[in-house]
Amino acid sequence: MQKKSKMNKLLILLSLLCLQACAHKTSKEIAESGSHLPPQNYAPQKYSLPSLDPGFHQSPINIFTNRTKKELNHDHFVVHFQDKVTAVENLGHTIQLDFNAGSTITVKDKTYSFKQMHFHTPSEHLIDGMTFPMELHIVSATENSITPDYLVIAVLFKMGEENQFINEFINLTPPHPHSKTVVKDNSVKLNDLLSLSPAGDLGHHYHYTGSLTTAPYTETVDWFVLKKIYEASPEQIETINTIEGNNARHIEPKNDRLVDDE
Ligand SMILES: [Zn+2]
Repeated sequence: MQKKSKMNKLLILLSLLCLQACAHKTSKEIAESGSHLPPQNYAPQKYSLPSLDPGFHQSPINIFTNRTKKELNHDHFVVHFQDKVTAVENLGHTIQLDFNAGSTITVKDKTYSFKQMHFHTPSEHLIDGMTFPMELHIVSATENSITPDYLVIAVLFKMGEENQFINEFINLTPPHPHSKTVVKDNSVKLNDLLSLSPAGDLGHHYHYTGSLTTAPYTETVDWFVLKKIYEASPEQIETINTIEGNNARHIEPKNDRLVDDE
């Protein structure tokens, strides 16, 4: 009997030693891989176009607000925004509002044309690990190149007051996927949500370079995530989520990228 209990103690001791050794190995491996470099066994997923260097600058990301780079020289934007929404589309995986051609935003000598804006429920970007119930992407792109450069303004929403801008199109959204409603008489205005003034001040934001969050995951996107959190009612967010489902891509490794705090 005593012999058996001694044997049991020995077995417990051995397994504890093994656990410690395994834990030690794991933390050593983590230390070697570096906190912001991809581990050696990281297999880049073929998310971007074959012609692009793939995989390490993907979006969305989790933005750690205390690990950003404070930018004193703010980017200067020149905005020519007509604010003309021509249609509301139910694409099945998102609600998209299309802009009339002719609105542009210029930053660092590069001019992008406003194309469309669409919603994600829940948010794709996280702030300090926190997710939000909804995120709007205002997408503009350069013209005349095979792979355009993109500029995306991301607007995060929390639950709160009913949002006037969302009310302008929510009832126009077609219930069936792959159909659209034409918007008449400038009745949907992004400026009712946020003011894209010609002075071109986006307000305080985080900036980093990343990718589209849907196929082909092209890594030519300048992301501007606004710091101001906007409000929409729980019912509005639920209506959008019911139409498009949960369409947020999982956060991607930040790797060697820095997020600018502007
Ligand atoms: Zn998006």
